[in-house]
Amino acid sequence: MATFSMDENGNIRRDPISVDELCAWADAYQKTYFPRHDPKCNIQIVDNAGGPACFDHSTKIMYVETAATISEKLSRILLLHEMIHINFIEDGQDPDEAHGDRFQAEVRRLFTAGAYRTLL
Ligand SMILES: [Zn+2]
Repeated sequence: MATFSMDENGNIRRDPISVDELCAWADAYQKTYFPRHDPKCNIQIVDNAGGPACFDHSTKIMYVETAATISEKLSRILLLHEMIHINFIEDGQDPDEAHGDRFQAEVRRLFTAGAYRTLL
């Protein structure tokens, strides 16, 4: 659950998103949008992901850049993106890192299913 703090200027800000929150969202997405595989949350928040988020093919660890965790919407979009790749691997397929037709078809499927309804 989101928590909020007051900064030095008196502004109320959402506290950075935690790994527990990311895992809860990822588990819910897995059950709803990728039910063919069981949820297996393996997420780390790091300062050197090499981009907003990435994943390691061999370990299936998802890395989310610390800077991305200031935004719940961005973090959720990143989760869905990486989960498309990871579920391709779980299916025994290439992860389609070039985001080709197979990846785009999954984005369309998730969009139609409502995954991005409150995010875009
Ligand atoms: Zn990608």
